[in-house]
Amino acid sequence: MSPQLTEFFDFLRFPSISTDSRHKEDVRSCADFLMKKFESMGLKPELHETPGHPIVIARSEPKEGRPTVLIYGHYDVQPVDPVDEWDTPPFEPTLKGDKIFCRGATDNKGQHFSHMLGVEETLREHGELPVNVIFLLEGEEEIGSPNLAPFLEKHRDELKCDICAVSDTGMIGPGIPTMTYGLRGIACLEFKVHGPSLDLHSGVYGGAVPNPATIVARLVSALHDADEVIQIPGFYDQVTPLEPWEREMWGSLPDGDAATIAETGVAGLLGETGYTALEQRWGRPTAEVNGIGGGYQGEGSKTVIAREAMAKFSFRLVPDQDPQTILEIASQFLKDQCPDSCRIDVELGHYGPAYVMDPHSKYGKAAQKALQVAFSDEPRLIREGGSIPIIQSIKDILGVDTLLLGLALPDCQIHAPNESFTVTNFEAGIRLNRALLEELGR
Ligand SMILES: [Zn+2]
Repeated sequence: MSPQLTEFFDFLRFPSISTDSRHKEDVRSCADFLMKKFESMGLKPELHETPGHPIVIARSEPKEGRPTVLIYGHYDVQPVDPVDEWDTPPFEPTLKGDKIFCRGATDNKGQHFSHMLGVEETLREHGELPVNVIFLLEGEEEIGSPNLAPFLEKHRDELKCDICAVSDTGMIGPGIPTMTYGLRGIACLEFKVHGPSLDLHSGVYGGAVPNPATIVARLVSALHDADEVIQIPGFYDQVTPLEPWEREMWGSLPDGDAATIAETGVAGLLGETGYTALEQRWGRPTAEVNGIGGGYQGEGSKTVIAREAMAKFSFRLVPDQDPQTILEIASQFLKDQCPDSCRIDVELGHYGPAYVMDPHSKYGKAAQKALQVAFSDEPRLIREGGSIPIIQSIKDILGVDTLLLGLALPDCQIHAPNESFTVTNFEAGIRLNRALLEELGR
């Protein structure tokens, strides 16, 4: 086994599970391992305490007149439960064919460790880097990065950079270089419909009084029309339409409709008319019911009109929808649709805007070139449907875009038993880092 792989295995052995306080010391030992590694590479490491787990920063010798690249990663990992479903011990890296099985192999240790090794190789060969590099590795990503934004605020000046690079997203398939240039935003709310002041006998009063469960069902069904178009007035006003190149690019990817059916086990698709599944998932906004409840849920029947019922909604947003505006018009819509015979309470939840960067910008092109070098194939440009709040924090606080150069394969099983990372991608990640720094420095 190569010395690089041996070192990677040592890194993987730390059970750095951030959510579990029994592993607090393991998370710290893992941070110490990184400190030593950065030191030996010739970077200047710093261990920053937070109210939770430490943040590790490491910088190359800064040189005037060169761009500074911030490379973000996270060394904490998800819990391993259910542990019986692992074929090999979750924290004993096991090589089978091209795959390394271990918790954290892909998410995110393998992806950022290959960047570190890329920097190490360049320094060993050339004695210096083509750009200034700052590594920022946190230990709390899997618990929502509660201390990252305050840290960025506090160290804004020392973390000043021109561009950020993160490998923590997916690849379309093995060997297909993939750059994610957009993520959907989110806005959540929940509401309660109140009817009678107490649960009622549905025989004695039914037919004359409003039933909150019926009203909630009506409000939910009012969200979409038969073409799955969202009916909240003004909902699409700020939506930036997909550009022809995006529809063409996504249309050239392996069949997203079929893949969506296969991955989810649904009998068929049901989405906004006129768009493919990938367009619906990456480039169009949604209104989803995430929870709905009211009335008797137990065994058998109970003839009751419950005094209240509820639902929880989340909206996935695209550029340039403003989450606060969406929450305002959505709650107004619910209030307008609710009959006067009931009272409705709407409670607004968390929100964040969509993220998009121009993949054809100077740095975007440099990243594409680097992917091309690392994988010897034309990069595919995609967006993803979920949100990555740290990317927005980096944009808001440090004012820079992020190049999302993911190395996660569709079958890598992150967050699940038998997580794996391939040796192929580990080596590609090292090449990617070397090419990226070189291209960004041009
Ligand atoms: Zn994760």
